[in-house]
Amino acid sequence: MRNPSSKLWRTKVDLGLSTTDAAINHPLDAPLTKTVSHEATYYISQNAKGQRIDVPNSFNVHPALLNELRNRNPRLCNYHHLLRDCNDRFCPYDHNSTLTAREFEALTYLSRSQRCPQGSACVERCIKGHMCPSGRNCRHGTACRHADLHDIDTAVATKIMVS
Ligand SMILES: [Zn+2]
Ligand SMILES: [Zn+2]
Ligand SMILES: [Zn+2]
Repeated sequence: MRNPSSKLWRTKVDLGLSTTDAAINHPLDAPLTKTVSHEATYYISQNAKGQRIDVPNSFNVHPALLNELRNRNPRLCNYHHLLRDCNDRFCPYDHNSTLTAREFEALTYLSRSQRCPQGSACVERCIKGHMCPSGRNCRHGTACRHADLHDIDTAVATKIMVS
């Protein structure tokens, strides 16, 4: 875990696209070659209550694609593909594949299905879920591990830049 406290700047919301937004707006089936670089500026979004908001917060991921990613052998490394930052020298997961925008989105969805232990308070470069990746459209109701956050206010009030 990094200590984030020394590296945070609180900024007003700007409407420019973050690196992740840009990747997700890429033409869907084109290969993503320069999605996220480790050096890229990384922003964390928060709502007016200071709760972390995962952006974008709605996905249209086809279940078949999710299954395809789950069944890959080896599976894609979430840290490598979503953050360009896997620090496991012996990582057994796939660092070599080039993802399409759809695959990037599906991998983001799968990664966010795992709830971040820091929840809404997380201010790190983090690929886990800080709210339900299906949001208000979640079909799992109270059985969802993110159920308490289904109604979270998703309006972004603040962006924090993490170096
Ligand atoms: Zn890895
Ligand atoms: Zn987190
Ligand atoms: Zn849910």
